[in-house]
Amino acid sequence: MFERRHTKQISVGKVLVGGGAPVTVQSMTTTKTADVEGTLQQIYALAAAGCDIVRCTCNEQEAAEGLAQIVPRSPIPIIADIHHQYKMALAAMEAGVHGLRLNPGNIRKPEHIKAVASEARDRGLPIRIGVNGGSLDPSLYEKYGGLTAAAMVESAMQEIAYFQEVDFNLIKISVKASNVPLMVEAYRMLADTTDIPLHLGVTEAGPPPAGLVKATAGISTLLLEGIGDTIRYSLTADPVEEARAGRQLLEALGLRERKNVDLIACPSCGRAEVDVIDVANRAMKAFEEKKLPLQIAVMGCVVNGPGEAREADLGIAAGNKRGHLFVKGRNVAVVPENEMVDALVEWAEFIHEHGTDAAIARVDTSIAEREAARDRSRALDEKGADANNATEKIVEIRKNLGE
Ligand code: SF4
Repeated sequence: MFERRHTKQISVGKVLVGGGAPVTVQSMTTTKTADVEGTLQQIYALAAAGCDIVRCTCNEQEAAEGLAQIVPRSPIPIIADIHHQYKMALAAMEAGVHGLRLNPGNIRKPEHIKAVASEARDRGLPIRIGVNGGSLDPSLYEKYGGLTAAAMVESAMQEIAYFQEVDFNLIKISVKASNVPLMVEAYRMLADTTDIPLHLGVTEAGPPPAGLVKATAGISTLLLEGIGDTIRYSLTADPVEEARAGRQLLEALGLRERKNVDLIACPSCGRAEVDVIDVANRAMKAFEEKKLPLQIAVMGCVVNGPGEAREADLGIAAGNKRGHLFVKGRNVAVVPENEMVDALVEWAEFIHEHGTDAAIARVDTSIAEREAARDRSRALDEKGADANNATEKIVEIRKNLGE
């Protein structure tokens, strides 16, 4: 395991950030903040998908008024996103938000920055200094001859200096860029400069899957170095996808306790006796809303499936138009192929409630083992040990190379 960098701790509502607190997931609503019911609906969906803190834009008076109604009904803390108009920051605080995000690139007057920080200090609210590569202060752009990691870090440090003048220190920082190596460099530089908690993200990552890849590359590189206290995937997609991706990344890295199913599936090959992609997708859908912290495997054949996925809590492998269910590598039941997903759900719910030992104990495993052995040898007889025809291909390669 990697050691996490020590940072100061702040709290956003009841959610702790930094100072050894679990890494949190953030996202942002895409509704008009003035649309109170629509925004709350999205916030509830985000919270259900694993979002810990949500940001809403506060770009006009109607948005601030909407926030006054949204904040008391939100299940998770709300941060107001402020650009250009410092008065919107003051209005959002009046509305009761749990924190602010300021972009130093577009609120530049020191007296405005200090007015917001003084108010936040008096209310005990945190502010994220959200430096964004695309909207860097033009004077820094000029000084560094373009967008560089050092320019982004300097932008954040300048903002901190203004905050310090009014004795405000409930701060988080982000230095996001859409270029992954640049973003990684900026965060590393920042981590060497300050112990203020960091909010990680690759800005404007774009639509999935490319956006997911870019965001994961940047965020996980830093998390694996112990850098980062809270994260956001900035995807051009339904924000629920952002929250889900953030949560899944933290679970995959062991930074958050597993809440949902970790579905593993074989990539399929010449041995597969079922459409693995279809079964895996249907299983993914069936488990989507269920909060079952289990690892579940979907495997294409009974020849190798149960062995390859023996570490999974539960799995199913196809063979002879049937599904062979196994728990911790032990065969427990055989079901018709069209009932594979339903059977997985039923067994997963049982395991979640009673544990894997109880699941194994509830059946006579010898029956399922015998059936699996029968289908395994049938498959071996039919396809042999070389179902992917590798031997034939090797002979051909050697022939072509004149051996
Ligand atoms: S051998 Fe079986 S379990 Fe492994 S990839 Fe092929 S079909 Fe899937």
